[in-house]
Amino acid sequence: MQNLLDFDAKLFSRWFATLEEKPFRATQTMRWLHRVGVADFDAMTNLAKSLREKLKTSAIILPPTLVSASISKDGSQKFLFDIGDNNAIETVFIPETGRGTLCISSQAGCALECAFCATGKQGFSRNLTTAEIIGQLWQANRFFGHDHERIISNVVLMGMGEPLANLDNLIPALNLMLDDNAYGLSRRRVTVSTAGLIPGMDRLREECPVALAVSLHAADDALRDQLMPINRKYPLAELMNACRRYLEKAPRDFITFEYALLSGINDSESDARALLALTQKVSCKFNIIPFNPFPGSEYRRPGTERVRRFTEILLAAGKVATTRKTRGSDITAACGQLAGQVRNKRAPSRSIPRANRRYAIFLEEHAR
Ligand code: SAH
Repeated sequence: MQNLLDFDAKLFSRWFATLEEKPFRATQTMRWLHRVGVADFDAMTNLAKSLREKLKTSAIILPPTLVSASISKDGSQKFLFDIGDNNAIETVFIPETGRGTLCISSQAGCALECAFCATGKQGFSRNLTTAEIIGQLWQANRFFGHDHERIISNVVLMGMGEPLANLDNLIPALNLMLDDNAYGLSRRRVTVSTAGLIPGMDRLREECPVALAVSLHAADDALRDQLMPINRKYPLAELMNACRRYLEKAPRDFITFEYALLSGINDSESDARALLALTQKVSCKFNIIPFNPFPGSEYRRPGTERVRRFTEILLAAGKVATTRKTRGSDITAACGQLAGQVRNKRAPSRSIPRANRRYAIFLEEHAR
């Protein structure tokens, strides 16, 4: 059985050709699936009965299973999806005036082991399939239905996992987000966030250039090596060059640099100046994220004054710098707090014992 949620337009028409169906039939089916959001072939009323029967015997529509949807006091909403084999992933919807952003996951767990990230502490289980990536958007759309307060206008790949480590499955999902026969989002409204996988950045630029965010968190290699082990493979000077290459094709004329502020580690005034010097030749904006603690985390969030001071130095240099408001922390949906529940196949050096228990409790309290 073929899961139709694994297909972008190209894969759809290729598969329909093997069924000896015309390309426009593939487009019609894709529109039912993604524009209307139906899960049932009989609801696809403009398809010939014979085609519907053919689809029933050869295809399925199988999204990740929605386990719970919990809403935060500030209106953001976290979805927990079961993807089998004891793996669960999380997706967060963040409503803001004039837009709604869905933050989706690309892997169950993450192999990069960034020292300050809850997902990284859990270890890596597996890549998500295209159906599981796009399925988060598909499910959230169905969940919200016609709720006009909850329209998804932007998608960010800032949930669990490193999106550029799963490009084979990510690219068809991105294609669907951009396709007018599916979600029809503009390239500027789809943002991939990476810890700095340079080959992946180059491939994304060639195959599907959407807006790019790069997680920096340190302006020198010695500190970044510690915080983000991937830096040992792709150090800062090369990363800056890769950002400049990306800008040649990027839909926005800037890269967003994310910088999590860790008290006493990377939040001094000289750190801010080093950040400016490092990024001098890259057209960029800064997104400052005061550290979000999670059980077992060894870092602390700096005080508001220190956050303000750090940001002010960037602003004074004429840069755009926003401080990310913490949303959804009461439902552990803030940056770096997403942990889902993954079966760790590559245990990191320090894993959080019994992280899953927190989820059992969370589910009891919030499931509805
Ligand atoms: N792997 C991708 C996608 C994760 S996006 C990446 O590294 O960019 C989530 C963002 O939140 C990243 O910038 C990540 O470094 C940051 N982050 C992770 N843990 C955090 C925490 N505990 N507090 C604040 N930000 C965190």
